[in-house]
Amino acid sequence: KPRLYSGMQPSADSLQIGNYIGALLSWKALQQTHDAYFSIVDLHALTVAQDPVKLRENTRRTAAQYIASGIDPSAATLYVQSHVAAHAQLAWVLNTITGFGEASRMTQFKDKSAKQGSDGTTVGLFAYPILMAADILLYDTVVVPVGEDQRQHVELTRDIAARFNSRFGDTFVIPEADIQKETAKIFDLQNPTAKMSKSAESHAGVIWLLDEPSVTAKKIMRAVTDADGGVVFDRENKPGVTNLLTIYSTMAERSIQSLEDEYAGRGYGDLKKGLAEVVTGTFGPIRARVLELLGDPAELDRLLAHNADRAAGVANVTLARAFDRVGLIPRA
Ligand code: ATP
Ligand code: MG
Repeated sequence: KPRLYSGMQPSADSLQIGNYIGALLSWKALQQTHDAYFSIVDLHALTVAQDPVKLRENTRRTAAQYIASGIDPSAATLYVQSHVAAHAQLAWVLNTITGFGEASRMTQFKDKSAKQGSDGTTVGLFAYPILMAADILLYDTVVVPVGEDQRQHVELTRDIAARFNSRFGDTFVIPEADIQKETAKIFDLQNPTAKMSKSAESHAGVIWLLDEPSVTAKKIMRAVTDADGGVVFDRENKPGVTNLLTIYSTMAERSIQSLEDEYAGRGYGDLKKGLAEVVTGTFGPIRARVLELLGDPAELDRLLAHNADRAAGVANVTLARAFDRVGLIPRA
């Protein structure tokens, strides 16, 4: 089976619907056909300020949400990034062959550093994509399923891998991003031209996996639309309605066309009501399962430890190869 790698940051106490649609749904399918590694990337989360108590809690909560959403920890390797030391170790080596200008061109860095201000912007935030390159390359990954927002980071990973290979000899597999075109980007319900994010300043337009159904429904009913009234998919002129249709279509596994037909002439209220039912219907059971899993943290930790061992077995082989190629002597 081809190797696959992907991850999510434990940067909030719940995942948002963009993570579910853009990542988890495709992971669930891909774990059948691939040798899949799914990481909870806690080292990445540290690149912006985190409360240690919350980070610990959010890491377990993220793991529980992966499992409750259908990631099977016996079919796929589901582990916490910091449990496999090779990630930070390889990242250091890759830092040394990445250009400052090259890293400066990453749009996620530009966006996030603009929000953090110059004192809040850490070297870690700058190096984020290089740590991500290490994550991917350690597993001889062929496929990286991510949202559109991560395309540039996967491109950088390919550049770094190719550079390493040409400088030090064939070492890394060159990975490829797998981006689902139509569902690649879910937008904020209150600001439908901005990506929905766990770390958004305002939560008013974010649909959380673990929200109470009534809260989710309220947020959907209040989603920004337009004055035109037509339920039509039109990214340019009707970003709000288009976003709702995208979410509806993936969550209900229905075509955009059939939704446009069903809601033609019925107005946005009906569309939103229908969507709220679909979303809460899917997230309700997931939420219940998450709470169940979190009720036994020791069992969850055991499972993560076991999976981390499996991941480390693969990662350490690649790390040793890379260390050797650059001239670091093995510990006797
Ligand atoms: P943060 O705000 O902390 O960066 P995030 O919501 O952007 O959080 P990540 O942990 O950075 O989430 O990304 C996890 C996965 O979810 C990635 O594969 C990413 O491409 C995908 N993803 C994140 N936001 C969206 C979105 N709005 N639409 C589709 N996919 C998304
Ligand atoms: Mg992100």
